[in-house]
Amino acid sequence: MARYTGAVCRLCRREGQKLMLKGDKCYSEKCAMDQNRRPYPPGQHGQGRAKSSEYGRQIREKQKAKRYYGVLERQFRGYFAMASKRRGKTGENLLAILESRLDNTVYRLGFAMSRAEARQLVLHGHFQVNGRKVNVPSFLVKPGMIITLSQKSKNLGKLKSSIEANAFRQPPKWLEYDANALIAKVSGVPVREDIDFPIEEQLIVELYSK
Ligand code: SF4
Repeated sequence: MARYTGAVCRLCRREGQKLMLKGDKCYSEKCAMDQNRRPYPPGQHGQGRAKSSEYGRQIREKQKAKRYYGVLERQFRGYFAMASKRRGKTGENLLAILESRLDNTVYRLGFAMSRAEARQLVLHGHFQVNGRKVNVPSFLVKPGMIITLSQKSKNLGKLKSSIEANAFRQPPKWLEYDANALIAKVSGVPVREDIDFPIEEQLIVELYSK
């Protein structure tokens, strides 16, 4: 399945939640969800949709997670398989894996205005993990790993402005971040409380367990 290239604000309207897909606009009063301009799903039948079934809710929850983290179906299924093999609750394991993606980590650290932008920055080789360039957005970070900007990227205007604009955002507890040196250490595994996104991960587990 191809990556979605349409208007991303429609996806927020579809899920009825802010998915933070558009960078600084998401934090501004221009966000369509905050203005509550059209509080119904997009499309011809958006206003006429009947109440959804249990299956419909499960699908929506899965779509929401995929869109929030910018992951396609095949990869998402792969993460679910990985999560179900780990100890503990599969839903929480799934969220921990999604959070550990390098593009999400870069976004959480405030190096990018959105996950899509973080993905681009990683693809263009602006980050190093343990001193080695990693240009794979799906790379999963693990406790003890050190994330830094590559030397040539430290003066990149786009990165500088994102760091400045995101200074108010606190990195999650599983990341130790030195904002002066622009160095982050992965100090733990993301846990459920670290994920502030309202999602019912159990519905995703039910969907894939059928
Ligand atoms: Fe969603 Fe951001 Fe658009 Fe608001 S501005 S609708 S949060 S993508």
